[in-house]
Amino acid sequence: MQTIEPAATESLDTAADVLLGAERIVVVSHVNPDADAIGSTLGLVQGLRILGKQVVAALSDPIPDYARFLTGADDIASELPSEDVDLIVSADAADIERIGRLYEENRDRFESTPILNIDHHRTNPMFGTVNHVDPRASSTSELMFRVLTALGAPMDPGTATALLFGIFGDTGSFQNGATTPGALITAAHLVELGADNQRVSFQLFECKRFAGARLWGRIVSTIELDAERHSVFGYLSQEMLRAEGAKVDETEGVAEYLRGVQEGTVVVLMKETPEGEMRISMRSRPEVDVSAIATALGGGGHRQAAGCTIPGPYQAAKDVIIETYDRLNPR
Ligand code: 5GP
Ligand code: MN
Repeated sequence: MQTIEPAATESLDTAADVLLGAERIVVVSHVNPDADAIGSTLGLVQGLRILGKQVVAALSDPIPDYARFLTGADDIASELPSEDVDLIVSADAADIERIGRLYEENRDRFESTPILNIDHHRTNPMFGTVNHVDPRASSTSELMFRVLTALGAPMDPGTATALLFGIFGDTGSFQNGATTPGALITAAHLVELGADNQRVSFQLFECKRFAGARLWGRIVSTIELDAERHSVFGYLSQEMLRAEGAKVDETEGVAEYLRGVQEGTVVVLMKETPEGEMRISMRSRPEVDVSAIATALGGGGHRQAAGCTIPGPYQAAKDVIIETYDRLNPR
């Protein structure tokens, strides 16, 4: 198992001090924002606003429909604020490139502004000026709860709901390996603060469009079993999205569903991008580390949930994954 040792990770107090010392703050997160990216970003923004800070959230990509109900979701900017800020907070981004377009188009500003990197990916290379990275945390949303608590920021039900949304997302509703005592204890505090857990659960795990349900059917009908490697491969093409009038966000949860296939320990879901590349989502049972495969291919993530982007088409991408798997798991 390949682990990148953190270069430095600073204490909660240091992170809190950096936030206290800044007045104008922008919070950014990763491309294709998932529940934890959105929940940790919105939770921090609202908590800091209650403290009187001037804070905005900015993301490179639009948020998926299932997250639109969160307080503040409509105010997420697609650009950095035009005026200079005192601090950029990066939430849940495993490396700086994962911030995407906002980083690529503003490299000079990222170089001239202090960055507070708050994350829980163990592959994080500590790209911030100050880094608060805890790979043992279930989610970045759990870390944001700790940060806001350290700041003494009162959390209203909207803030609590956003943070709970992130924890639900990264723990797969308290079912996967990220379900730590910290996840459960933090969730209890958030529910006590008025987080709407029924709504969070419905939005993340049940609510779907008819077209989305049909898209799942198409993906599930592509699956192949590599019995030798106990791996389940599946794919999504741009053609399937067009045929159903669905969006790639609507595939959220398919890889977890496939992880339940008894004959497999690894799921490799390949999603064709409009450019013809393959966005790979890998999931595994506890005994297999897929982050090593993702990292070897320029991506990253967690032991049981990792991803990367490699050239297509499907068969070529599948060959690359198999070759990497075999190299890392010599028999
Ligand atoms: P997903 O399959 O849901 O897109 O990603 C699973 C996990 O792997 C997430 O924690 C995500 O942040 C991480 N991940 C996915 N793609 C990449 C990538 O290209 N680079 C890095 N560093 N992490 C990734
Ligand atoms: Mn996360």
